[in-house]
Amino acid sequence: MTSEHLKVGIRIRPLLGHEAAFESVVSIENVNHIQETTVNVVDGEHFLSSKFDKVFPSISNQENIFEFISPSIQQSLKGFNTTIFAYGQTGSGKTYSMFGSNWENNNPAPQNYYISTNKLTKITENHPLDNLEGHGLIPRSISQVFESTSTENLTIYTSFLQIYNEKIFDLLQETSNPRPLAIRENKMYGIFVEGLAEYIVENKNDCFLLLAKGDSNRVVRQTKLNQHSSRSHTIFQMLIETDKANKKGALKKSKLNFCDLAGSEKYDKENKMTNEHIKEMTQINKSLTSLGKVIHELGRKKSIHIPYRDSKLTRLLQDSLGLSTRTILIATISSSSSCIEETINTLKFADRAKQVMVKAKKNEVSAL
Ligand code: ADP
Repeated sequence: MTSEHLKVGIRIRPLLGHEAAFESVVSIENVNHIQETTVNVVDGEHFLSSKFDKVFPSISNQENIFEFISPSIQQSLKGFNTTIFAYGQTGSGKTYSMFGSNWENNNPAPQNYYISTNKLTKITENHPLDNLEGHGLIPRSISQVFESTSTENLTIYTSFLQIYNEKIFDLLQETSNPRPLAIRENKMYGIFVEGLAEYIVENKNDCFLLLAKGDSNRVVRQTKLNQHSSRSHTIFQMLIETDKANKKGALKKSKLNFCDLAGSEKYDKENKMTNEHIKEMTQINKSLTSLGKVIHELGRKKSIHIPYRDSKLTRLLQDSLGLSTRTILIATISSSSSCIEETINTLKFADRAKQVMVKAKKNEVSAL
Protein backbone atom coordinates (compact mmCIF):
# COMPACT_ATOMS: atom_id res chain seq x y z
CA MET A 1 0.00 0.00 0.00
CA THR A 2 1.45 3.39 -0.96
CA SER A 3 0.65 6.67 0.72
CA GLU A 4 0.36 9.83 -1.36
CA HIS A 5 -1.27 13.24 -1.41
CA LEU A 6 -4.47 13.81 -3.33
CA LYS A 7 -3.20 15.22 -6.63
CA VAL A 8 -4.38 18.70 -7.58
CA GLY A 9 -4.16 20.42 -10.96
CA ILE A 10 -5.39 23.97 -11.60
CA ARG A 11 -6.62 24.89 -15.07
CA ILE A 12 -6.85 28.57 -15.94
CA ARG A 13 -9.29 29.35 -18.70
CA PRO A 14 -8.63 32.26 -21.04
CA LEU A 15 -10.71 35.44 -20.88
CA LEU A 16 -13.89 35.01 -22.93
CA GLY A 17 -15.50 37.60 -25.21
CA HIS A 18 -17.78 39.07 -22.52
CA GLU A 19 -14.77 39.54 -20.22
CA ALA A 20 -12.82 41.71 -22.67
CA ALA A 21 -13.22 44.76 -20.43
CA PHE A 22 -11.65 43.00 -17.44
CA GLU A 23 -7.99 42.42 -16.75
CA SER A 24 -6.33 39.11 -15.99
CA VAL A 25 -5.41 38.80 -12.30
CA VAL A 26 -3.93 35.29 -12.31
CA SER A 27 -0.25 34.60 -12.97
CA ILE A 28 1.92 31.53 -12.57
CA GLU A 29 5.53 30.78 -11.65
CA ASN A 30 7.74 27.74 -12.23
CA VAL A 31 5.67 26.62 -15.20
CA ASN A 32 8.27 24.13 -16.34
CA HIS A 33 9.13 23.06 -12.84
CA ILE A 34 8.97 19.27 -12.49
CA GLN A 35 7.58 19.22 -8.97
CA GLU A 36 5.05 21.99 -8.36
CA THR A 37 3.81 25.20 -9.93
CA THR A 38 2.80 28.35 -8.06
CA VAL A 39 -0.31 30.28 -8.90
CA ASN A 40 -0.74 33.90 -7.80
CA VAL A 41 -3.97 35.87 -7.72
CA VAL A 42 -3.38 39.54 -7.14
CA ASP A 43 -5.32 42.77 -7.46
CA GLY A 44 -5.49 45.92 -5.31
CA GLU A 45 -7.45 44.20 -2.52
CA HIS A 46 -6.68 40.50 -2.81
CA PHE A 47 -3.55 38.39 -2.68
CA LEU A 48 -3.21 34.62 -2.78
CA SER A 49 -0.19 32.52 -3.69
CA SER A 50 -0.24 28.75 -3.56
CA LYS A 51 1.63 25.74 -4.95
CA PHE A 52 -0.05 22.83 -6.71
CA ASP A 53 1.10 19.64 -8.44
CA LYS A 54 0.42 21.33 -11.73
CA VAL A 55 -1.02 24.63 -12.94
CA PHE A 56 -2.15 24.74 -16.55
CA PRO A 57 -1.93 28.18 -18.18
CA SER A 58 -4.75 29.31 -20.43
CA ILE A 59 -2.86 28.22 -23.55
CA SER A 60 -2.85 24.56 -22.40
CA ASN A 61 -4.76 22.19 -24.62
CA GLN A 62 -6.93 19.18 -23.77
CA GLU A 63 -4.05 16.79 -24.35
CA ASN A 64 -1.87 18.60 -21.77
CA ILE A 65 -4.55 18.12 -19.11
CA PHE A 66 -5.04 14.50 -20.08
CA GLU A 67 -1.31 13.78 -19.71
CA PHE A 68 -1.69 14.79 -16.05
CA ILE A 69 -4.34 12.13 -15.32
CA SER A 70 -3.30 9.44 -17.80
CA PRO A 71 -0.90 7.58 -15.41
CA SER A 72 -3.78 7.27 -12.91
CA ILE A 73 -6.10 5.87 -15.61
CA GLN A 74 -3.39 3.27 -16.26
CA GLN A 75 -3.34 2.44 -12.55
CA SER A 76 -7.11 1.95 -12.56
CA LEU A 77 -6.54 -0.83 -15.08
CA LYS A 78 -4.28 -2.50 -12.51
CA GLY A 79 -6.97 -2.65 -9.84
CA PHE A 80 -6.74 0.76 -8.13
CA ASN A 81 -9.93 2.77 -7.57
CA THR A 82 -9.53 6.16 -9.20
CA THR A 83 -11.64 9.32 -9.06
CA ILE A 84 -11.20 12.41 -11.19
CA PHE A 85 -13.05 15.52 -10.00
CA ALA A 86 -13.73 18.81 -11.74
CA TYR A 87 -14.41 21.65 -9.29
CA GLY A 88 -14.88 25.35 -9.96
CA GLN A 89 -17.18 28.32 -10.37
CA THR A 90 -19.95 28.14 -12.97
CA GLY A 91 -18.45 29.05 -16.34
CA SER A 92 -14.84 28.32 -15.31
CA GLY A 93 -14.36 25.34 -17.64
CA LYS A 94 -15.36 22.14 -15.80
CA THR A 95 -17.47 20.70 -18.61
CA TYR A 96 -14.96 21.91 -21.19
CA SER A 97 -12.25 19.99 -19.33
CA MET A 98 -14.24 16.84 -18.54
CA PHE A 99 -16.22 16.47 -21.76
CA GLY A 100 -14.73 18.77 -24.38
CA SER A 101 -15.05 22.02 -26.24
CA ASN A 102 -18.49 22.88 -27.56
CA TRP A 103 -19.56 19.48 -26.27
CA GLU A 104 -23.37 19.85 -26.42
CA ASN A 105 -23.38 21.04 -30.03
CA ASN A 106 -20.86 18.52 -31.31
CA ASN A 107 -22.31 15.58 -29.44
CA PRO A 108 -26.11 15.67 -29.53
CA ALA A 109 -28.09 12.89 -27.86
CA PRO A 110 -27.84 9.82 -30.07
CA GLN A 111 -31.15 8.56 -31.46
CA ASN A 112 -32.30 5.21 -32.80
CA TYR A 113 -30.68 2.77 -30.47
CA TYR A 114 -31.91 0.76 -27.55
CA ILE A 115 -30.44 -0.62 -24.41
CA SER A 116 -31.84 -3.76 -22.86
CA THR A 117 -31.65 -4.82 -19.21
CA ASN A 118 -27.96 -4.38 -18.70
CA LYS A 119 -26.45 -4.51 -22.12
CA LEU A 120 -26.23 -2.10 -24.96
CA THR A 121 -27.57 -4.36 -27.68
CA LYS A 122 -27.99 -2.43 -30.86
CA ILE A 123 -26.64 0.78 -32.18
CA THR A 124 -27.79 2.24 -35.41
CA GLU A 125 -25.93 5.45 -34.97
CA ASN A 126 -22.21 5.68 -34.70
CA HIS A 127 -20.45 8.06 -32.37
CA PRO A 128 -16.90 7.58 -33.53
CA LEU A 129 -14.17 8.37 -31.07
CA ASP A 130 -11.33 8.22 -33.54
CA ASN A 131 -10.58 11.89 -33.55
CA LEU A 132 -10.00 13.07 -30.02
CA GLU A 133 -9.21 16.67 -30.91
CA GLY A 134 -11.07 19.04 -28.64
CA HIS A 135 -12.30 16.18 -26.46
CA GLY A 136 -11.87 16.36 -22.73
CA LEU A 137 -10.76 13.97 -20.01
CA ILE A 138 -13.65 11.48 -20.09
CA PRO A 139 -13.61 10.60 -23.83
CA ARG A 140 -9.80 10.43 -23.75
CA SER A 141 -9.89 8.12 -20.72
CA ILE A 142 -12.51 5.92 -22.38
CA SER A 143 -10.18 5.62 -25.35
CA GLN A 144 -7.22 4.70 -23.10
CA VAL A 145 -9.24 2.08 -21.19
CA PHE A 146 -10.48 0.41 -24.38
CA GLU A 147 -6.99 0.35 -25.89
CA SER A 148 -6.08 -1.92 -22.98
CA THR A 149 -9.02 -4.23 -23.63
CA SER A 150 -7.29 -5.30 -26.85
CA THR A 151 -4.38 -6.78 -24.88
CA GLU A 152 -6.12 -7.75 -21.64
CA ASN A 153 -9.44 -9.43 -21.18
CA LEU A 154 -11.39 -6.76 -19.33
CA THR A 155 -15.11 -6.41 -18.75
CA ILE A 156 -16.28 -2.81 -18.49
CA TYR A 157 -19.56 -1.91 -16.78
CA THR A 158 -20.73 1.68 -17.20
CA SER A 159 -23.18 3.77 -15.21
CA PHE A 160 -24.01 7.47 -15.21
CA LEU A 161 -25.98 9.35 -12.54
CA GLN A 162 -26.81 12.87 -11.54
CA ILE A 163 -27.56 14.42 -8.16
CA TYR A 164 -30.14 17.13 -8.70
CA ASN A 165 -31.67 18.99 -5.74
CA GLU A 166 -30.34 16.30 -3.37
CA LYS A 167 -31.97 13.47 -5.35
CA ILE A 168 -30.14 10.81 -7.34
CA PHE A 169 -31.28 9.97 -10.89
CA ASP A 170 -30.05 7.46 -13.44
CA LEU A 171 -29.01 9.39 -16.55
CA LEU A 172 -29.13 6.29 -18.74
CA GLN A 173 -32.65 5.16 -17.96
CA GLU A 174 -35.13 5.60 -20.78
CA THR A 175 -38.11 6.98 -18.93
CA SER A 176 -40.18 10.14 -19.09
CA ASN A 177 -40.76 10.09 -15.36
CA PRO A 178 -37.45 9.30 -13.66
CA ARG A 179 -37.62 8.00 -10.11
CA PRO A 180 -35.09 9.14 -7.49
CA LEU A 181 -32.81 6.32 -6.36
CA ALA A 182 -31.61 5.49 -2.86
CA ILE A 183 -28.08 5.01 -1.54
CA ARG A 184 -27.46 1.69 0.22
CA GLU A 185 -24.46 0.13 1.86
CA ASN A 186 -23.53 -3.47 2.48
CA LYS A 187 -20.43 -5.53 3.10
CA MET A 188 -20.26 -6.96 -0.38
CA TYR A 189 -20.61 -3.81 -2.50
CA GLY A 190 -19.77 -1.03 -0.05
CA ILE A 191 -21.80 2.08 -0.91
CA PHE A 192 -24.01 1.73 -3.98
CA VAL A 193 -27.10 3.20 -5.62
CA GLU A 194 -29.99 0.78 -5.60
CA GLY A 195 -31.50 0.28 -9.06
CA LEU A 196 -28.80 2.17 -10.96
CA ALA A 197 -28.34 0.51 -14.37
CA GLU A 198 -24.87 -0.80 -15.21
CA TYR A 199 -24.26 -1.54 -18.87
CA ILE A 200 -21.62 -3.90 -20.15
CA VAL A 201 -19.84 -1.96 -22.86
CA GLU A 202 -17.74 -3.75 -25.44
CA ASN A 203 -16.03 -0.96 -27.33
CA LYS A 204 -15.13 2.69 -26.97
CA ASN A 205 -17.72 3.96 -29.44
CA ASP A 206 -20.56 2.33 -27.49
CA CYS A 207 -19.18 3.78 -24.28
CA PHE A 208 -18.99 7.21 -25.90
CA LEU A 209 -22.57 6.85 -27.02
CA LEU A 210 -23.70 6.17 -23.45
CA LEU A 211 -21.76 9.20 -22.29
CA ALA A 212 -23.42 11.44 -24.89
CA LYS A 213 -26.84 9.97 -24.13
CA GLY A 214 -26.52 10.44 -20.36
CA ASP A 215 -25.12 13.93 -20.74
CA SER A 216 -28.12 14.99 -22.82
CA ASN A 217 -30.38 14.03 -19.88
CA ARG A 218 -28.51 16.27 -17.45
CA VAL A 219 -30.29 19.33 -16.05
CA VAL A 220 -28.81 22.52 -17.48
CA ARG A 221 -29.85 26.13 -17.22
CA GLN A 222 -28.69 29.39 -18.69
CA THR A 223 -26.90 31.36 -15.98
CA LYS A 224 -25.18 34.72 -15.98
CA LEU A 225 -21.79 33.07 -16.61
CA ASN A 226 -22.68 30.13 -18.80
CA GLN A 227 -25.38 29.44 -21.41
CA HIS A 228 -25.48 25.71 -20.58
CA SER A 229 -24.68 25.65 -16.92
CA SER A 230 -24.93 22.17 -15.36
CA ARG A 231 -27.32 22.26 -12.45
CA SER A 232 -26.49 18.81 -11.15
CA HIS A 233 -23.42 16.91 -10.01
CA THR A 234 -22.75 13.90 -12.24
CA ILE A 235 -20.75 10.73 -11.74
CA PHE A 236 -19.79 8.70 -14.80
CA GLN A 237 -18.40 5.36 -13.65
CA MET A 238 -16.52 2.60 -15.40
CA LEU A 239 -16.21 -0.58 -13.37
CA ILE A 240 -13.24 -2.52 -14.72
CA GLU A 241 -13.00 -6.25 -14.10
CA THR A 242 -10.28 -8.65 -15.23
CA ASP A 243 -10.91 -12.32 -15.83
CA LYS A 244 -7.30 -13.29 -15.25
CA ALA A 245 -6.62 -14.43 -11.69
CA ASN A 246 -3.17 -13.73 -10.27
CA LYS A 247 -0.99 -16.40 -8.60
CA LYS A 248 -3.05 -16.17 -5.42
CA GLY A 249 -6.27 -16.70 -7.39
CA ALA A 250 -7.44 -13.10 -7.00
CA LEU A 251 -9.16 -11.00 -9.69
CA LYS A 252 -8.65 -7.28 -10.09
CA LYS A 253 -11.70 -5.05 -9.96
CA SER A 254 -11.62 -1.29 -9.86
CA LYS A 255 -13.90 1.72 -10.11
CA LEU A 256 -12.95 4.64 -12.32
CA ASN A 257 -15.16 7.64 -11.46
CA PHE A 258 -15.46 10.97 -13.23
CA CYS A 259 -17.24 13.51 -11.11
CA ASP A 260 -18.30 16.75 -12.78
CA LEU A 261 -19.53 18.98 -9.99
CA ALA A 262 -22.18 21.62 -10.54
CA GLY A 263 -20.60 25.04 -10.15
CA SER A 264 -21.02 27.32 -7.20
CA GLU A 265 -22.99 30.44 -8.05
CA LYS A 266 -23.78 33.72 -6.33
CA TYR A 267 -27.25 35.24 -6.12
CA ASP A 268 -27.72 37.34 -9.26
CA LYS A 269 -29.13 40.69 -8.10
CA GLU A 270 -29.39 42.19 -11.59
CA ASN A 271 -31.42 39.43 -13.24
CA LYS A 272 -34.41 38.10 -11.38
CA MET A 273 -33.84 34.43 -10.60
CA THR A 274 -36.81 32.03 -10.63
CA ASN A 275 -37.68 30.12 -7.45
CA GLU A 276 -36.57 26.91 -9.14
CA HIS A 277 -33.19 28.45 -9.98
CA ILE A 278 -32.76 29.71 -6.40
CA LYS A 279 -33.60 26.25 -5.03
CA GLU A 280 -31.02 24.63 -7.32
CA MET A 281 -28.41 27.22 -6.40
CA THR A 282 -29.05 26.69 -2.67
CA GLN A 283 -28.79 22.90 -2.96
CA ILE A 284 -25.62 23.10 -5.08
CA ASN A 285 -23.94 25.51 -2.69
CA LYS A 286 -25.00 23.39 0.32
CA SER A 287 -23.59 20.17 -1.09
CA LEU A 288 -20.36 21.91 -2.15
CA THR A 289 -20.05 23.22 1.41
CA SER A 290 -20.44 19.62 2.70
CA LEU A 291 -17.77 18.49 0.26
CA GLY A 292 -15.50 21.27 1.56
CA LYS A 293 -16.07 20.12 5.16
CA VAL A 294 -15.29 16.50 4.29
CA ILE A 295 -12.11 17.56 2.48
CA HIS A 296 -11.15 19.75 5.44
CA GLU A 297 -11.60 16.87 7.91
CA LEU A 298 -9.76 14.40 5.68
CA GLY A 299 -6.84 16.83 5.49
CA ARG A 300 -6.48 17.08 9.26
CA LYS A 301 -3.97 14.83 10.97
CA LYS A 302 -6.44 13.68 13.60
CA SER A 303 -10.02 13.82 12.52
CA ILE A 304 -12.71 12.54 14.86
CA HIS A 305 -15.71 12.63 12.59
CA ILE A 306 -15.89 12.95 8.80
CA PRO A 307 -19.37 14.26 7.92
CA TYR A 308 -19.95 12.08 4.83
CA ARG A 309 -23.67 11.82 5.61
CA ASP A 310 -24.29 15.56 5.34
CA SER A 311 -25.12 15.38 1.63
CA LYS A 312 -25.87 12.81 -1.07
CA LEU A 313 -22.72 13.90 -2.88
CA THR A 314 -20.35 13.24 0.01
CA ARG A 315 -22.14 10.02 0.99
CA LEU A 316 -21.83 8.69 -2.56
CA LEU A 317 -18.22 9.75 -2.78
CA GLN A 318 -17.35 8.26 0.61
CA ASP A 319 -15.49 5.40 -1.09
CA SER A 320 -13.84 7.74 -3.57
CA LEU A 321 -12.79 10.39 -1.09
CA GLY A 322 -11.93 7.86 1.51
CA LEU A 323 -8.47 6.63 1.99
CA SER A 324 -8.26 3.83 -0.56
CA THR A 325 -8.81 5.68 -3.84
CA ARG A 326 -6.39 7.57 -6.05
CA THR A 327 -8.04 10.95 -6.42
CA ILE A 328 -7.19 13.82 -8.73
CA LEU A 329 -8.85 17.19 -8.47
CA ILE A 330 -8.91 19.46 -11.49
CA ALA A 331 -9.89 22.89 -10.21
CA THR A 332 -10.90 25.29 -12.95
CA ILE A 333 -10.59 29.06 -12.63
CA SER A 334 -11.09 32.13 -14.80
CA SER A 335 -8.26 34.64 -14.95
CA SER A 336 -10.73 37.55 -15.11
CA SER A 337 -10.74 40.20 -12.35
CA SER A 338 -14.56 39.94 -12.38
CA CYS A 339 -14.29 36.39 -10.94
CA ILE A 340 -11.57 37.04 -8.36
CA GLU A 341 -13.57 36.14 -5.25
CA GLU A 342 -14.76 32.81 -6.67
CA THR A 343 -11.26 32.10 -7.98
CA ILE A 344 -9.81 32.61 -4.51
CA ASN A 345 -12.49 30.34 -3.00
CA THR A 346 -11.72 27.64 -5.55
CA LEU A 347 -7.98 27.86 -4.87
CA LYS A 348 -8.59 27.68 -1.11
CA PHE A 349 -10.67 24.55 -1.65
CA ALA A 350 -7.94 23.08 -3.86
CA ASP A 351 -5.34 23.99 -1.26
CA ARG A 352 -7.23 22.07 1.42
CA ALA A 353 -7.70 19.11 -0.94
CA LYS A 354 -3.96 18.73 -1.45
CA GLN A 355 -3.51 18.12 2.31
CA VAL A 356 -5.56 14.91 2.02
CA MET A 357 -3.45 11.75 2.20
CA VAL A 358 -4.54 8.74 0.21
CA LYS A 359 -3.45 5.16 0.80
CA ALA A 360 -4.19 3.54 -2.54
CA LYS A 361 -4.49 -0.22 -2.45
CA LYS A 362 -5.29 -2.76 -5.13
CA ASN A 363 -8.80 -4.20 -5.17
CA GLU A 364 -8.56 -7.91 -5.51
CA VAL A 365 -11.41 -10.32 -5.07
CA SER A 366 -11.19 -14.08 -4.80
CA ALA A 367 -11.78 -15.82 -8.12
CA LEU A 368 -13.37 -18.74 -6.32
P1 ADP B 1 -18.58 25.11 -16.41
O1 ADP B 1 -18.81 23.66 -16.78
O2 ADP B 1 -17.48 25.26 -15.41
O3 ADP B 1 -19.83 25.83 -15.98
P2 ADP B 1 -17.87 25.40 -19.21
O4 ADP B 1 -16.91 24.27 -19.28
O5 ADP B 1 -19.22 25.15 -19.82
O6 ADP B 1 -18.07 25.90 -17.70
O7 ADP B 1 -17.18 26.69 -19.85
C1 ADP B 1 -17.85 27.94 -19.99
C2 ADP B 1 -17.44 28.58 -21.31
O8 ADP B 1 -16.04 28.80 -21.34
C3 ADP B 1 -17.75 27.68 -22.52
O9 ADP B 1 -18.17 28.51 -23.58
C4 ADP B 1 -16.41 27.04 -22.85
O10 ADP B 1 -16.30 26.71 -24.21
C5 ADP B 1 -15.42 28.14 -22.45
N1 ADP B 1 -14.14 27.58 -21.95
C6 ADP B 1 -13.97 26.94 -20.78
N2 ADP B 1 -12.68 26.55 -20.61
C7 ADP B 1 -12.03 26.95 -21.72
C8 ADP B 1 -10.67 26.84 -22.16
N3 ADP B 1 -9.72 26.23 -21.41
N4 ADP B 1 -10.35 27.37 -23.36
C9 ADP B 1 -11.29 27.99 -24.13
N5 ADP B 1 -12.59 28.13 -23.76
C10 ADP B 1 -12.96 27.62 -22.59
